[in-house]
Amino acid sequence: MKSLSNRSIEVSNKKMTFMERIYLPAVIGGLFITLKHLFMKGATIKYPEQTRPVSDVYRGKHVLKRDEKGAERCTACGLCAVACPAEAITMTSAERKKGEEGLYREEKYATVYEINMLRCIFCGLCEEACPKEAIFLTTEIMPANFERQDFIYGKDRLVEPIDKRVDVSNRQTIEVVTQKFND
Ligand code: SF4
Ligand code: SF4
Repeated sequence: MKSLSNRSIEVSNKKMTFMERIYLPAVIGGLFITLKHLFMKGATIKYPEQTRPVSDVYRGKHVLKRDEKGAERCTACGLCAVACPAEAITMTSAERKKGEEGLYREEKYATVYEINMLRCIFCGLCEEACPKEAIFLTTEIMPANFERQDFIYGKDRLVEPIDKRVDVSNRQTIEVVTQKFND
């Protein structure tokens, strides 16, 4: 009968030879392949001591950016959380008090901002949704952990340190790069 896919294989009922019946040549052949792989360059690397180079726009761990004066950009509008298909982002907002202008750029800010990295699929939609250029994904590969709680990233691990800014210029729009953003 003609096969529709042209990929059918005819099954052979031919009797096994003596050598095939004792399986030894096949076992030795298998061992030889194993031995050959012992001397070949491994396909894996010793992560986390070694890492592979990633693209400039690789989507890794998030960062919550500060503005040029050091104030947090996030205004807790919630658009990133709404855009997130994995429902990984939660936040609590508060009104900025008098005297806190240097800490928070807008009148509203996030007192709590958490990303559940076990839910996150690193799609980058939060970054795209943010109207304040406050959240970006960086090229930092997410570290492995043992406890679930360690995958809940709060502001302590998301907001960039004031003295150790995270360069996201590869991902920022031209308005931010040229610092045309006004309060
Ligand atoms: S990268 Fe995607 S999945 Fe992860 S927090 Fe942002 S929107 Fe959600
Ligand atoms: S990160 Fe951006 S989108 Fe998300 S709450 Fe803050 S300002 Fe809004």
